[in-house]
Amino acid sequence: MWIDTHCHLDAAEFAADRDGVVARARAAGVDRLVLPAVDPGNFDTVRRLAHAHGGAYALGIHPLATPASAAAVDADLERLVVALEAQRDDPRLVAVGEIGLDHFVASCDPALQARCCEAQLRLARDAGLPVILHSRRAVDPLLKLLRRAGVTGGIAHAFNGSRQQADVFLDLGFRLGFGGTLTFDRALRIRALARELPLEALVVETDAPDIPPHWLYRTAAERAAGASMRNEPAELPRIAGALAALRAIEPATLAAATNASAHAVLPRLAALGTPA
Ligand code: ZN
Repeated sequence: MWIDTHCHLDAAEFAADRDGVVARARAAGVDRLVLPAVDPGNFDTVRRLAHAHGGAYALGIHPLATPASAAAVDADLERLVVALEAQRDDPRLVAVGEIGLDHFVASCDPALQARCCEAQLRLARDAGLPVILHSRRAVDPLLKLLRRAGVTGGIAHAFNGSRQQADVFLDLGFRLGFGGTLTFDRALRIRALARELPLEALVVETDAPDIPPHWLYRTAAERAAGASMRNEPAELPRIAGALAALRAIEPATLAAATNASAHAVLPRLAALGTPA
């Protein structure tokens, strides 16, 4: 059994064949999907999908969904407060996420992102929930917010930092999410981390429909001609197989370790037990 700890099953890319996507994942041995929200507009959808498919979900505001004014940020945060309160006892609500900082996309104001992220870290702490983090070009500022907020840990999804930054996340009670990027030969730093970090540090994810592995990669010309690079959770075992090969361990060993890690940082996921 595999757990896809980060999958946007609600994405428009899956609108035409969502049930098929879930069925293919199951057939491939991916029995549990964790569905992070990205903004208040999809809170109900991720909850509904998690219940429909025996999965789990998180509620939060993605840094790239940060509204463009402080007042609008606060209004979205209020919607998150209401949703977290309403779903407080839902066993499938396993984290606050996807939240974080993204300094790669210049159009998204860093100060507003920080306001939104810090408030959500506090909400997670107060709710006793772990967090699912997104970070691009912003690991150090995010670590600073994490230390200040005192959250209980969670997952740094699509981790792409240094070994030193990885160690700080681990010290703060986090695990690091690895996915399709590690299947590219040129992803030297991520492949080195995937090989060298302690096995207990890792969880696996697809981030589907994003972050396709190399075998789904299409050139710009192919995409212009209509080719799709859509990733899906059924790809997880093959991605994890590449990770297992990097570490020279059996896939089953990796599955057991990464499932245990996912359960350690997402206790409510563990409490769901093994899917029927
Ligand atoms: Zn995501």
